Amino acid sequence: MREVVVLGAGVVGMTSAYALARRGFAVIVIDAGSSPAEGGASFGNGSQLSYSYTDAMASPSMMASLPKYLLGLDPAFRINMTFSPGFLEWGLRFLANSSQKSFERNTIEVLKLAMESRREFANVSDKVTFEYRHTGKLSLYSSCESLEKAQKLSDLKNTYGAEQTILTRAEAIEREPALAHYGHSFVGALWSPHDESGDSRLFCQGLKSLLEADFGVRFIFNTRINSLKTVARRLYSVVTDKGELPCDSAVLSLGIWTGHVAKSAGIHLPIWPVQGYSMTVPATDFTPSASITDTSRKTVFCRIGDRLRIAGLADIAPGQGVFKPERFETLFKTAREIFPKAGDYDGEVNAWTGLRPVTPNSQPIVGRSKVDGLFLNCGHGSLGWTLSMATAQKLVADIANASDLPR
Ligand SMILES: Cc1cc2nc3c(=O)[nH]c(=O)nc-3n(C[C@H](O)[C@H](O)[C@H](O)COP(=O)(O)OP(=O)(O)OC[C@H]3O[C@@H](n4cnc5c(N)ncnc54)[C@H](O)[C@@H]3O)c2cc1C
Repeated sequence: MREVVVLGAGVVGMTSAYALARRGFAVIVIDAGSSPAEGGASFGNGSQLSYSYTDAMASPSMMASLPKYLLGLDPAFRINMTFSPGFLEWGLRFLANSSQKSFERNTIEVLKLAMESRREFANVSDKVTFEYRHTGKLSLYSSCESLEKAQKLSDLKNTYGAEQTILTRAEAIEREPALAHYGHSFVGALWSPHDESGDSRLFCQGLKSLLEADFGVRFIFNTRINSLKTVARRLYSVVTDKGELPCDSAVLSLGIWTGHVAKSAGIHLPIWPVQGYSMTVPATDFTPSASITDTSRKTVFCRIGDRLRIAGLADIAPGQGVFKPERFETLFKTAREIFPKAGDYDGEVNAWTGLRPVTPNSQPIVGRSKVDGLFLNCGHGSLGWTLSMATAQKLVADIANASDLPR
């Protein structure tokens, strides 16, 4: 049986392991954390399975707002310029993806992946318990101009099967009565009926049990991967803080940390961390059942069982990954102000921060690398939870087709 080592047990590594095991590979998963989805972005993300709202981050409207972000005038999005060569290179590639044409192309490419993920999540949903819900999503717009732009993009997405519709404010409240208590004005909403939600951490934990019980997958936790060794452009071993593991075939899925380990094998990856925050509070009688995204305040509200997850903020700044209380406070205040009854803000609040592994074109990097035996599944940005099942399928097809894999 061919063996593949999966490096990283976030949602991307775990779905890679699942797809590989189902395809008949022997799988080993290694992670620095003590359980899946513990050490990275898959722990506390927004929980939205955002199959239709796949808008790329680089866009003409992002460019128009750039001065505001750079000057710290937008509470939700901050860019503190650093002049490292890595950031400048990533930033230039990001800018090159900001035309309307590139934005639409990138959005549609991600949409296609997301729609495949939806089919895959439906297939796995009876095997893993993860608060999976068919919620639909309402994206709220605060100006007629932004709503019109959303309509144009949804017309394009609908030709690919997204089935989004524009609703007036009254229609949105009819669909989601909790919006009657919305604290800020919105002129209308985009309804994405097929969007779903679920807890990615619970999903990863459930997958681990399934993989151990049904497929004999081996997990090695509390083990930090330091580098990769190659010989004549072929993968030779994985070097960890617990020793060296000889290995012919591996998948790199270390989220924002993938680039660092890839570098040791001579591979350069354009992934930059964009920091976000989330809070989880008890649900109330007024918690929405549909997922809600406030597009102008870049805040999402998503019910997970008897809890409400609220996520937002996008910071590109030094000291990435460090929890900054003042930034969390911004999320907390915004959420309470715009949707005061949606959750019990005076109850137990679980605060969290994480890093989105963002590529310049918002598309994940999946497939073979220039090192034989080494495969990539990384750079999932703001939608890694949503895209994970589809990119795992793509990865496994590439691995199964690789003629250079030892048997
Ligand atoms: C605030 C926020 C909200 C979000 N909301 C959504 C959403 O609603 N919907 C959505 O689809 N996506 C969302 N995302 C994005 C999504 O969470 C990520 O794209 C996804 O979790 C990335 O998964 P991953 O497995 O690639 O990385 P991670 O989850 O970061 O996992 C990487 C793993 O690698 C391990 N690791 C790293 N370095 C090493 C090392 N050297 N040795 C050993 N192990 C190592 C870590 O311990 C970790 O387990 C959000 C992200 C954030 C930050």
